[in-house]
Amino acid sequence: MSSQIINVLKKKVAKKTWDNWFSTFELKSVEDDRVVFSVANLFIKDWLQTKYGGVINRSIHEATGKELPFEIVFKNGELSKEETVVHQQAGSLLKRKPLMISNLNPEYTFENFVVGEENRALYEVARDVTRNPGKYNPFFVHGGVGLGKTHLLQAIAQETMTNFPDKKVLYITSEQFMNDMIQSIKENNIQKFRDHYRKRSDVLLIDDIQFLIGKKGVQTEFFHSFNELHDAGKQLIICSDRNPEELDNFHSRLISRFQMGMLMTIQQPEAETRFHIAKKLAQRESVNLPDDVAMILANNIDGNLRRLRGAIIKLIVHSSVYNTRIDISLASMILQSFASSSAVPSSQKPIDQIYDAIEHVMKISREDIKGNNRSKEIVLARQLVMYILKQHFGKQVAEIARDTGKQHPTVIHSIKKIDKSVMMGRGSTKILYDDLIGLLSSRSAAV
Ligand code: ADP
Ligand code: MG
Repeated sequence: MSSQIINVLKKKVAKKTWDNWFSTFELKSVEDDRVVFSVANLFIKDWLQTKYGGVINRSIHEATGKELPFEIVFKNGELSKEETVVHQQAGSLLKRKPLMISNLNPEYTFENFVVGEENRALYEVARDVTRNPGKYNPFFVHGGVGLGKTHLLQAIAQETMTNFPDKKVLYITSEQFMNDMIQSIKENNIQKFRDHYRKRSDVLLIDDIQFLIGKKGVQTEFFHSFNELHDAGKQLIICSDRNPEELDNFHSRLISRFQMGMLMTIQQPEAETRFHIAKKLAQRESVNLPDDVAMILANNIDGNLRRLRGAIIKLIVHSSVYNTRIDISLASMILQSFASSSAVPSSQKPIDQIYDAIEHVMKISREDIKGNNRSKEIVLARQLVMYILKQHFGKQVAEIARDTGKQHPTVIHSIKKIDKSVMMGRGSTKILYDDLIGLLSSRSAAV
């Protein structure tokens, strides 16, 4: 009877989903008060719990006739290092490279990427790259903040993995590249680092390459990796907030290498596209945004799509807190708060803006955040401050350490911790984060 659970479940999910996410999912035991499953990867465990909890519950009910809660445990230690390597060569996506998946935001897919005429050509090339890795090499995409570069890159990564389950796809930010390099130098193991990038990736995607401006040593290392991969016909995809010539202080040989591939700009979306993006952004939060509301947002907020997202999050939060409908009058009110706050640009320092937002959303005072209290909420608030300084305001770890009076490792740990929750896409931390970003964006949004 118990083995039925898996059979029922398997029938309920699409084959592709099953192959991607459930291939290590096993029934461990059926007890009086719960059902226990196991999986071979921590990220997958959380992912299955949040995204497929409903269907798992329904399958248990159908197979056993009981409403038993379930638990997924991590098959600890079953994947030894050697086994991981074996899995990397054969088998399903998730056995091959569990750690790489965890870098990607599951929402950044082509399905969620709205294409207007402005970016049609870019979109077509991006899709083509996922079908023919190595064809446009490198593929270099540049454009302003919040226009969807990271989303596009991650969509390419995810689709390439689906199209070519045997290819090793590696998405990283150039900051990660640098940190890995520094770490390997500290550990006296630069060779391992080189192998990692040069031998272990068939498709390498590097986000925000402009971060390497002024960092000659890292650029040199990157140049060698780039050449080696390129010579071997491996696909490189790079994005930047500016075009290659504007990468001041970059080695000229690196710039000319970027220029020899396919260079494309990501354009600002027109109002019509913004309308569809607004609908899609709300849909991602499981909210159906009425057309008139999407229209008024699209017509009043241009440029940076993070602002559009900020406004939508604010609408959703407001309507759920005050139990009101999302309609034009609420949208106008929120747009007004955008307008009035942008008329008087915030002269506050980023950290003070964050303290204010946290006070508003979490009801935790800046004194508490700066103090020594180790209660769970306050610790979370502190970590959010550091994370938002990094993600939203683009601060470097050193600056964050200085502004918050924390040690480097604490800052790095905090950022990683929040990043994991936020990337996972669900849960209270993610909601808090969205809420805070919504508030902060609405204050800084120029309408
Ligand atoms: P960038 O990396 O260029 O700064 P992001 O990729 O972070 O921009 O995009 C900002 C937000 O806008 C993300 O939430 C992203 O999903 C969303 N977004 C950007 N472009 C699109 C698009 N064409 N369709 C749907 N959502 C988009
Ligand atoms: Mg980005």
